[in-house]
Amino acid sequence: VIVAGTGLAGLVAAISAQEDGARVLLCEKGVDIGGSTAMSGGYLWTLPDVQTYARIVPRGDPVLGRCLVEDFNTGAEWLRAHGVRLGNPITGLPFEPAATGFRIEPDTATGAVLPLVDAFCAGGGRILRGTPVLRVDRVDNHHALSVVIGTSTGKKLVGCQSLVLATGGFQGDSELLARYIGRWSDRLALRANVHSVGDGYRLAQNFGAASSRGLSAFYGHLMPAAPALIEPAAYRSLAAFYSSHCILLNLDGERFTDESRGDHFSAIALAHQPEATGFLVFDEECRVQHVIGTHVPDMPSHDPLRAIRAALGVILEASSLEQLVHLLGAWGVNSNAAERTLTEYSRAMDPTQADRLPVPRRSNRHSLNQPPYLAIPVRVGITFTEGGILIDEDCRVLDRDHRPVPGLLAAGADVGNISNEGYAGGLAAALITGLRAGISAARWGAW
Ligand SMILES: Cc1cc2nc3c(=O)[nH]c(=O)nc-3n(C[C@H](O)[C@H](O)[C@H](O)COP(=O)(O)OP(=O)(O)OC[C@H]3O[C@@H](n4cnc5c(N)ncnc54)[C@H](O)[C@@H]3O)c2cc1C
Repeated sequence: VIVAGTGLAGLVAAISAQEDGARVLLCEKGVDIGGSTAMSGGYLWTLPDVQTYARIVPRGDPVLGRCLVEDFNTGAEWLRAHGVRLGNPITGLPFEPAATGFRIEPDTATGAVLPLVDAFCAGGGRILRGTPVLRVDRVDNHHALSVVIGTSTGKKLVGCQSLVLATGGFQGDSELLARYIGRWSDRLALRANVHSVGDGYRLAQNFGAASSRGLSAFYGHLMPAAPALIEPAAYRSLAAFYSSHCILLNLDGERFTDESRGDHFSAIALAHQPEATGFLVFDEECRVQHVIGTHVPDMPSHDPLRAIRAALGVILEASSLEQLVHLLGAWGVNSNAAERTLTEYSRAMDPTQADRLPVPRRSNRHSLNQPPYLAIPVRVGITFTEGGILIDEDCRVLDRDHRPVPGLLAAGADVGNISNEGYAGGLAAALITGLRAGISAARWGAW
């Protein structure tokens, strides 16, 4: 078995194939092991049951959703048994009250990637770094594949029974983003490892695979706009988890989404607005009560505004709404429209008035009362694409007639439609599909 990618999906698939009797070669395109997994916040969570999955991810694949929620506890035990350090149980996260799971301690690089690499190597597995999987061809019969891998000296052909694609999605590829996310996709900032550029997706397509639904969906966050510098170490502290309490304007000076649904929904919505550029507006009361504080439990005394300033980002501040609108105008916002939008919005927050906002605001209904008034220019940071390769519940890649493509498996963010705007957890999806893909890869010849 060959596995492409050493994120959580690839590592888990490699070990589970190995434990099912396969000889496994694990190829990593980058020099470092761990992909986006190693950068992540380490919240291994998903939704508690299929009903909640159907409510939060109504457009997701119900079969894969069921696998995710039903396998989760077994998957977590499997990780523990392989040396991964899971903290106390989590019930509810600020950005998803229904979340259930654990945090990987102290972080994913040391608490998960390292022990999994050790377990794989102790079982006789080999990891090749700086070695991308480039192509796959079928050899004479249905039980053999020939895989082209890149090496420091050129290319090499390796034969195998099956190939697991776990290359982490296509958020790093401008061509695929333009195709599926559209006109403003080149304004998006990458909030992930740089190597996940759709290799798995393209390789599968060239080998006859079908695409999942939800190709335009992604998980991401609002991040400070240029001139802010978004370094990987600040991917978490610069994410606007607090935006569900703010007002989000576009360059036309209009609201376009119910901000209270959550920052990742606002990020998807902003990707389709002019220049994919927005402005988070709030007042002093909102700053004190909702912007500063605990948005993610392991960042308890977090001040997002300080993080933005440290990254050389901009925060507009004014003593009146008129002055704030004027400052927004200097950023290219239609200031007449912005003034109308903010006034209408404030009026609609009055509990004695009917909310007649063109874009309703269902919760976190805070008025703009207390100066200073603030606005943060924001762009979209893309963490991973939610559409991708079509698979069945055994993680076998499917063709356009929904028949398995012999020998080809996919796992993690390469798999499409486990989340689809509604989000059910990235690490959990990598774990569950990794386990299933590894077993299927080891048993491929027996099918
Ligand atoms: C800042 C940040 C915070 C996050 N926090 C959380 C969180 O708290 N909870 C959560 O559930 N999710 C979180 N996520 C999302 C989560 O990290 C991902 O969903 C998950 O890691 C995906 O795992 P993966 O194995 O599919 O991909 P990755 O971990 O990205 O691994 C893919 C690997 O494939 C390699 N690769 C690419 N192309 C090739 C090729 N051709 N051949 C060989 N190798 C290749 C890449 O170099 C990479 O190492 C976060 C992500 C980020 C960036």
